[in-house]
Amino acid sequence: LNDKYYLWGLGGIGRRALEYLLPMGVLCGIIDNDPVKRGRHECGLEVVGYDKALPDLRNKGVIVAFFDSQEAERQLKRDGVHYYHLNDFIIKWHLESGGKRAIGFLDFPITTRCTLNCVACMQYIPYRKKLDVPIELLIQELNELFTYITFVGEISIIGGEPFLHPDLAELLTHIDSFHRDKIGSLVITTNAMVLPDERTLRACRDTGIFVSISDYSENVFGIVAKLADFEKTIKEAGLNVERKRWSWCDPGKFEHENAGGDCGLHHMQFSGGKLWSCTLMAAACAAGYCEPVAGWDYIDAWDCTYNQNQWRTSCCNRCMYKLKQAIPASIQLEQGGR
Ligand code: SF4
Ligand code: SF4
Repeated sequence: LNDKYYLWGLGGIGRRALEYLLPMGVLCGIIDNDPVKRGRHECGLEVVGYDKALPDLRNKGVIVAFFDSQEAERQLKRDGVHYYHLNDFIIKWHLESGGKRAIGFLDFPITTRCTLNCVACMQYIPYRKKLDVPIELLIQELNELFTYITFVGEISIIGGEPFLHPDLAELLTHIDSFHRDKIGSLVITTNAMVLPDERTLRACRDTGIFVSISDYSENVFGIVAKLADFEKTIKEAGLNVERKRWSWCDPGKFEHENAGGDCGLHHMQFSGGKLWSCTLMAAACAAGYCEPVAGWDYIDAWDCTYNQNQWRTSCCNRCMYKLKQAIPASIQLEQGGR
């Protein structure tokens, strides 16, 4: 590892990463491709364009803080710049700081119930049995996870629709009391169709939750007003919120030894006491679309012997996600299967 790095990317991920990278003392500047952001100062660091930073980059390094970064990584390689993707940097930094185990991005599903029924759902929700994971189990699993893992850069609480879980407030209170210092950013990913009650909003605020809205209004008829109402409520409650329109990619069939290459997906998943190397594969397995291989596709949290390569999700060759064949997000399922 070098002494200092530029953070590349001041979108949602980069902005949230700033908060936990700054205390590590590793940042010396920020790169962003958006000319509007250049010249600003964020947390005392100047935002500059790549070309302006380049002469300095060769003595320092770059932490790439956005997904689908293959093009940027090619550029860095071509220019001889030492770099890590944020996911890998978090793992490496903790490993070199006393052999501690860390994870970059982790999805934590709490329910398979949802208000929508998207044909190409990346969590395969329409094809899975509907249940809320009991709160006792969620708490037990988190406690177990943090027995073995020192730090997670970003945990996304996902579903289905997480705001449908009746005990979400209790879960957040538990996280706040016992694990918050081991989590960089805590995100809830929602389709914005369920308005949280007062108690849940308060727990979100106390835990420093970031609300990430998946905006499906392009394909789901009649939800624009509901979405705006949700966003307004979240903002008025003093929470940070972002709204995203996803481009989804077809993973095709899950097999071993599909076409090689970097798929660019960096999210692991923790569910059923297992640490899955890829959140998409974990969901496909839960829906019966993929046969998992123990010790490679997942490990049991209690059996967590550290193997750095195992934690790199973006080198997996299990599916065709890397080909980035676009599939329309949020077309609703009427009948039939995927
Ligand atoms: S994509 Fe999101 S909103 Fe659609 S079914 Fe899946 S979890 Fe629900
Ligand atoms: S190639 Fe591997 S890591 Fe990438 S989406 Fe497919 S199963 Fe997940």
